[in-house]
Amino acid sequence: MSALRALLAVLVCLLPAGCGAADPFPEGSTMARIRDRGVLIVGIKFDQPMFGYKDPGTGRITGFDAEMARLVAKDLTGSERNIRFVETVSRERENFLAQQVVDLVIATYSITPARAQRVNFTDPYYYAGQDLLVRASDTRVDDVSDLDGKTVCTATGSTSVDRLREKAPGAKLEVVDGYSICVPALVSGRVDAISTDDTILLGLQAEQPDTLRLVGEPFGREPYGMGVRKQDPAFRDYLNGLIARWLADGQWDRAYRDTIGVSGATSDSSKPPNR
Ligand code: GLU
Repeated sequence: MSALRALLAVLVCLLPAGCGAADPFPEGSTMARIRDRGVLIVGIKFDQPMFGYKDPGTGRITGFDAEMARLVAKDLTGSERNIRFVETVSRERENFLAQQVVDLVIATYSITPARAQRVNFTDPYYYAGQDLLVRASDTRVDDVSDLDGKTVCTATGSTSVDRLREKAPGAKLEVVDGYSICVPALVSGRVDAISTDDTILLGLQAEQPDTLRLVGEPFGREPYGMGVRKQDPAFRDYLNGLIARWLADGQWDRAYRDTIGVSGATSDSSKPPNR
């Protein structure tokens, strides 16, 4: 418990309402458990620049999802430093929640009815769209209808793979564990395109701007939610309150500006309306 919280707890004991009223988190709740543990454990991507990325030089986790996670840690424990990031690839997200490897998942995690059977999702905190990344020198692909007979790399357990099967049934799919694995295959010519959310592709493209081209014709909308355990609607409700607050008080805009915004992208189609 932070010194400030402890002091508040003592002061409240002197009020007629009595002790305990200072604790914003109900006893036995996930929020109280994390606060008492003093560290928030978050499942996040490590290989998606601008969203969830482990900087090889510093070891720091950067990106928009990391900023969201730090804001949660700050609210729960008093400091954004009280956080442990666990790499969580697309196909592990539901498992890591069910097995309690992490407290929550913030990992470019699209809200879908199928996933909602196993996971409690917050309201959307971000909207992405599925797009294509190709070699800059390759002029054959201008949208999803050009993928017939082409080889497309994407990740296991993602909505990207499902939508490709539906919208580009003539494409050959190379399905791997993470999108960064696709990049050398694209550069070498072994695959013709990478397909997933535009936000992820933007981060990969920014690393090799002269070699790679983002097609820029989104063919599906991806609402990102934070995922918590199915049995824990109280934790979800608490997180929904935080998201609404950040959308209104400028924290969301700051996180955007410091991460994806650096690429020059604007948040117009990505920011959910204030609630
Ligand atoms: N947002 C999509 C999904 O949740 C694709 C990106 C990802 O795999 O994280 O499946």
